[in-house]
Amino acid sequence: MSQDVTRIVVFDTTLRDGEQAPGFSMDVAAKLQMARALDALGVDIIEAGFPIASPADSEGTRQVAAAVTRPVIAALARCRPQDIEEAGRALEPAKRRRIHTFLATSDLHLERKLRITREACLDAIVSAVRLARQYTDDVEFSAEDATRSDRDFLCRVVEAAIREGATTINLPDTVGYTVPDEIREFFSEIRRRVPNADKAIFSTHCHDDLGLAVANSIAACEGGVRQIECTINGIGERAGNASLEEIVMALRVRPDRFPFDTGIVSEHLFEASQLLSRLTDEPVQSNKAIVGRNAFAHEAGIHQDGMLKDARTYEIMRPKDVGQSAEQLILGRHSGRHAVARRAEQLGLALTPDEIAEVYHAVITMGEHRKSIGDNDLRRMVERVRTGHTTPA
Ligand SMILES: [Zn+2]
Repeated sequence: MSQDVTRIVVFDTTLRDGEQAPGFSMDVAAKLQMARALDALGVDIIEAGFPIASPADSEGTRQVAAAVTRPVIAALARCRPQDIEEAGRALEPAKRRRIHTFLATSDLHLERKLRITREACLDAIVSAVRLARQYTDDVEFSAEDATRSDRDFLCRVVEAAIREGATTINLPDTVGYTVPDEIREFFSEIRRRVPNADKAIFSTHCHDDLGLAVANSIAACEGGVRQIECTINGIGERAGNASLEEIVMALRVRPDRFPFDTGIVSEHLFEASQLLSRLTDEPVQSNKAIVGRNAFAHEAGIHQDGMLKDARTYEIMRPKDVGQSAEQLILGRHSGRHAVARRAEQLGLALTPDEIAEVYHAVITMGEHRKSIGDNDLRRMVERVRTGHTTPA
C-alpha cells in the first residue's frame, strides 16, 4: 500500500442510530454483546446510546462504557443541559469518553420542528459545547440536517462550535438527500470557508434513503472528511445508515481510487453481521453486499466453471477476507457439471465420467422443483445412480 493512505476514523452507531430503528431494539445484555463484537472488529468509536431517552438507554451506555475499554465510548445528547448531564453521568465508567451533542440547523427544522430562530440555535450550540467540555475534552457537535442548511449559517455554527471546544464536527445527511459530487463539494466548501476548520476533524453521517449512503460517505472523504459514521448491516432510521462493511471493503478493494483505510479487522465482518442479526432477530438480506448469504455464492454453470478454474474470474475479494466461507458453489437448476463433480469429490465420492453425466442430470431435474440441493440430496443421487435407480426423487 502506498505511503499517502489516510486513516479514516470509524464511528459505529449500530447501538444508537441502528438500535432506534423499528424492530432493532436491543436490551442491555444484547448491547454489551454487540459492543464486544465491535471492539473485536476494531471500530474506533462506539456510540453506545442516547442516555436521556430512557433509563435503559442510560444503563446500556453505562455498562458498555464500563466493559469495553479500547474504543472511545460516545453518548448522544441534544443541546440541552439535562441531556448533557445525563450523557456525562452514563459515561462516567468509560476509560475514553465522548459527548456527542446535536441540534438541527436547517431553516425547515428550525422553523417547523423546533420553532426557534437561527440566533437561538447558535446560542444553544455554544452553551451545549461549553457544558459538554466540562465532562470531557472529546466533544462532537452534529448539525442535524446539515446538507439542507443555509451554507452561510452553517459556517457560522461550525466556527462557533469549534471555538467552544468541539473537536469533531459531524455534518449529517439526515434525510439521505445528497449525492456523491454534491457532498464532496459541500465538505470542501465548509472546510475552506470556516477559519478554524483545521482545529477539528470533520465527520460524515449518511442515510440510505436513495441507496447512496456508502457512495456519499466515501465522496465525503474525498472532500476532506476523516470520520465516517456507520452501522453493521447498514441498520438505522428508515432505510438505514451507511453500511460499515461496505465502506471498509470498498476502500480495501479499490485503493487505486480511494487513498483511505480503516483499522477494521475485515475477517470479523461476517461474524459481527450474523451476531447483530441473531440479537435483533432480523434477517440480513440474502443479496446484501459483503455479508449477505449469497454475496459469494455461485449457481450459474458458467460462473461455477470459471470459479473452479480461477476464482478471480467472478470474485473481486476473497470470502475469507470478510469471514465468509470459501467457494460456495450452490447446486441447483443452473449448476454446471464441474460443480457437481467437485461437490461429489468433496464428499468423498469420486465419480466416473458416466456417473457425472447421470448425477448432473438428476441435479438439474431436482432443481426444477427445489430452491437448492444439499449434500445429502447429492449423496442419495450418487447412490441411486450406482444402484441403477436413476429416477430422481
Ligand atoms: Zn442518523
